[in-house]
Amino acid sequence: MNVACVGAGPAGLFFSILMKERDSAHEITVLERSQAGVTQGWGVVFWDDLLDEVRAVDPETASAIAKHAFRWSGERLLVADHDPVVLGVPGYAIGRRRLLDLLLERARSLGVRIRFEAEVAHPADLHDADLIAVCDGANSRLRHVLRAPLGTRVHTGSNKYVWLGTTKVFDDFTFAFVETSAGWIWCHAYCFDGETSTFIVECSTPTWSMLGFDRVGEGETLARLEGLFESHLEGHPLRADAGTRWRSFRTITNESWQHANVVLLGDAAHTTHFTIGSGTKLALEDAIALTEVQDGRPLRSALEDYERQRKAALRPWQTDARFSARWFEDVPRYAELDPTRFFGLMHERRSPLLPRCPPRLYYGLHRATHDVAALRQLRRWAAPKIKALC
Ligand SMILES: Cc1cc2nc3c(=O)[nH]c(=O)nc-3n(C[C@H](O)[C@H](O)[C@H](O)COP(=O)(O)OP(=O)(O)OC[C@H]3O[C@@H](n4cnc5c(N)ncnc54)[C@H](O)[C@@H]3O)c2cc1C
Repeated sequence: MNVACVGAGPAGLFFSILMKERDSAHEITVLERSQAGVTQGWGVVFWDDLLDEVRAVDPETASAIAKHAFRWSGERLLVADHDPVVLGVPGYAIGRRRLLDLLLERARSLGVRIRFEAEVAHPADLHDADLIAVCDGANSRLRHVLRAPLGTRVHTGSNKYVWLGTTKVFDDFTFAFVETSAGWIWCHAYCFDGETSTFIVECSTPTWSMLGFDRVGEGETLARLEGLFESHLEGHPLRADAGTRWRSFRTITNESWQHANVVLLGDAAHTTHFTIGSGTKLALEDAIALTEVQDGRPLRSALEDYERQRKAALRPWQTDARFSARWFEDVPRYAELDPTRFFGLMHERRSPLLPRCPPRLYYGLHRATHDVAALRQLRRWAAPKIKALC
């Protein structure tokens, strides 16, 4: 089979690896618009479940990721001048550049052809391909061309965020909330390589414009953020990479994930808000599923099966992501609580009950039960009823 993967992100590279492993006779080319070594974004988080899934299909890639991952030890919440609240929930992070280099090396070693500075504008440019795997990310150009048959929908979140890096090593996954005269602004910060940390800053759009971020360039933005987060950065600078700017998160869904011989994977097919830290995992899972459905039967039925399976698997993540994004859009609703309650409810942010229940009452219930399973049961029971009312 002649396969063209558009985009050398996690979805495109991992799909090329798995297809080549499955059958070395496949002709596989990955086409990437950027130059080699250029990517956007800093570190991404993941947990053991991702390593397990990758290990099951490609142990070599799993051990390379594990070897280069940074293990953060817990979560830390800092609200204004209050004492920190710490929770011992560990996880991993890896630099996006490092992850892509590992996948590139693996793909090349298996005989995948990689072409950089090869932007694809239209599926017709790839007329020789039996299968076109569209892995060109959230702003997918190919998906845009096919938006009518694919039924693409975009929902834009109301907060602003910017994805930065810093040399300050945050050993814990740190949420620091700073109160300004214009409202709350906060960071999600974690180390990903022992030397560098991701530093995502988020706030409401009114706060963003009242702080003047709609009117200043990159240098001034970094300087103002360094000032606002001075006590957390302890003198370390913030860094931006090429193309960094404030954005509003775009949640992408598609009614159909395939059209003729074109199929969507990763962010091109679906995005989930960054506050659930799962986009890379879901992109890799798409690659695994799309490889596994191709067991010699006609392409059409394989693609339909892939779409069915992945849509079902995605649904709970998309719901979680929607409620998580909403929690961060409602920060003033929770920020008046003491930090322990605030953190407790941040951990409950995927709950469909929480936005409909007074925060203190919800927290009281949470504490009273002392039994997370019971609350989950209540949530499972109530969620469909609440959704039906929405
Ligand atoms: C602020 C932020 C934080 C995040 N944090 C996490 C996290 O902690 N954990 C996690 O799992 N996920 C995280 N994510 C999500 C994660 O980055 C994405 O879900 C993941 O990168 C999707 O992989 P992909 O391969 O589908 O797309 P991408 O990684 O976006 O790759 C797409 C590739 O296609 C290329 N391309 C684009 N257009 C074309 C074209 N026309 N022709 C050729 N090439 C093209 C691009 O240059 C790019 O290399 C975060 C996202 C954001 C915005």
